[in-house]
Amino acid sequence: MSDRPSATDTTALWAPRYMGLPSFMRTPVVSDPADVDIAMIGVPYDGGVTNRPGARHGPREMRSASTMMRTIHHVTRVNPFDLCRVGDLGDVAFTKVHDQDATFEDITKFYAGVHAAGAVPLTAGGDHSITYAIFRAIAADRPIGMVHIDAHTDTWDEFLGSKFGHGSPFRRAVEDGYLDPKRAVQIGIRGAQIAPDGWDFSLNAGMRVIFMEEFTKLGVDAVIDEARRVVGNGPTYVSFDVDGLDPVYAPGTGTPEIGGLTTIEGQALLRGLRGLDLIGGDVVEVAPPFDPSGNTALVGATMMYEILCPLAEAFVARKSNA
Ligand code: MN
Ligand code: MN
Repeated sequence: MSDRPSATDTTALWAPRYMGLPSFMRTPVVSDPADVDIAMIGVPYDGGVTNRPGARHGPREMRSASTMMRTIHHVTRVNPFDLCRVGDLGDVAFTKVHDQDATFEDITKFYAGVHAAGAVPLTAGGDHSITYAIFRAIAADRPIGMVHIDAHTDTWDEFLGSKFGHGSPFRRAVEDGYLDPKRAVQIGIRGAQIAPDGWDFSLNAGMRVIFMEEFTKLGVDAVIDEARRVVGNGPTYVSFDVDGLDPVYAPGTGTPEIGGLTTIEGQALLRGLRGLDLIGGDVVEVAPPFDPSGNTALVGATMMYEILCPLAEAFVARKSNA
C-alpha cells in the first residue's frame, strides 16, 4: 500500500470523503470474494415490484450516500473495518435483466461464489424479491433464521400471475426449506391488504409476526428481546426493507405505509442483534427516484452500517470458535 491517502481507504481519515469512485463506505473494490470477510454487494434489480419501480437505482445511490459513513460506532465503539476485511464486490451482473428466472440465476450463482469463498454478504437492493435468490445460495446447506423489518410480511402466494414478486420471497423460502419459519421474526407489519393470505401464511407457518401496533405497545427493547428469543443461537439473516420505516424518514420506496418505525428505532433494533450468529444481511426497496432529497439513500446506507457492525462481530466470533 502506498502512504498516499486513498479514496477507498476507510482508515485514511484525511482523505476527503467526496473524492474518488464511490464504493460502499469507501472500502476497496474487490473482484474475488476470497479477498474479503464481508462482501458488500449491489443488486440493482426491481423487476419483482408489484407497483412503483425505482429500487434498481438503490445500490448506486446508497454507494454514494455511504461515503458519509465513518468507522467507529458511536454507541458500541465497534469498528467493523478493524475487525475484519470489508470490501465492495460490485454489482451482480445480469445476463438477461428482463427475464426474472435468468436474473435470479445470476444472483444465486454470484452469491454461491461468495458463500463458497467463506465471505459473508451484505447487500444493497434492489426490490425484496432478490432475497429469495440470495437464500438459494447461502441457505442451500441448511435452513436459516431471520430478523425481518418490513411493513409487509412478503409471504403472499402469488400476485399478478407471478410467485416470485417482492411480496412472496419468504413464502417461497419457507416452502423450499431455506428459511426456518420457527426462527423468523417479522417486525413493523402494517397497512391494509386486498387479501389476508400473506399475514395468515406467516402466522400459520409459525413465524413471529410483530405488527406495528404491538411494536408500539412493547417498545423497542422488548421487541429486541423477543427477536433474540425467536432466532436463538442458530445462523440468522437480517433483511431490512426500508418501507418498515415511516415514510416521513424514508419516502424513497415503492410501497410506502404510514405509521412505521422511526430511524432511531430501526437503528436500535439492528444494534440489539449484537452477539447473534449473523450470516448476512440486506437493505432493500430503496427507490431513489421517489426521494429527490437523497435522504432515503442515506438512511439505507446507515442501516447497512448498523448491520455491518454486529455482522463483523459475528464473523470474528465464528472464527475464534472454529
Ligand atoms: Mn419487503
Ligand atoms: Mn415492504
